Amino acid sequence: MRKFSFIAAICFMGSVGLISNAAAKQTAKSSTAVSTIFTAPKEGSTTVSLLIAGGSKAVDATVNDNATMGGICRHCGMPLRFKPANAGKVCDMCPCGDPMTECIAWIKLKHNDWQEMLRALPAGTGLQVAFKTAGNPASGISRLIVDRRVVLLPIESKTDPSDSQILKWAKPLGGTKVNLLNGGKQVEITLKSDWTGQKEAKLAKDLNSLGIQIAFKSDEVASQ
Ligand SMILES: [Zn+2]
Ligand SMILES: [Zn+2]
Repeated sequence: MRKFSFIAAICFMGSVGLISNAAAKQTAKSSTAVSTIFTAPKEGSTTVSLLIAGGSKAVDATVNDNATMGGICRHCGMPLRFKPANAGKVCDMCPCGDPMTECIAWIKLKHNDWQEMLRALPAGTGLQVAFKTAGNPASGISRLIVDRRVVLLPIESKTDPSDSQILKWAKPLGGTKVNLLNGGKQVEITLKSDWTGQKEAKLAKDLNSLGIQIAFKSDEVASQ
């Protein structure tokens, strides 16, 4: 038993060593535009309403049964990949013993399906989404990876904020880069640390002081 724990500890330390590598890969600039959940999927619904960076309005897309979903396990930092139906299975990357949905959502869930996982993400959390036919949401989602190192927020503003004004608020939250997109109606933030509900609440408050409102349908997007 003791010997087993020792081996498990070595394996675990080994995976910790890989974290920075895995995280670096995960945040590497992808060629596709980042998305975020606009309207969270209801229980049992396979349709996701996405806001895509640079897109003028949210688009609906269906998650195929054989799509690849995933994100980073909160406990070991390793990338998790699974089919939608297996989202609630226990993480096999580390001995955390939690369903993968919770490793990615960071909170206890009731049903542990992927819809609940997406509902639990802080507003604006980045998603790396690929469609069956590139660039065509109507063809269905073939890949959806949660990426807390990038954030996309729809905004409404009475003023005309600049990237650097917003970066000033984003920096203390781990922000390294801000891009205003879609004529100033979206903010994309690159982060060096993970996006959380607390950071979202703080940024929303700070943006408010600049006369900027985060423009999700707030009742439908969870903020933990
Ligand atoms: Zn893990
Ligand atoms: Zn875990």
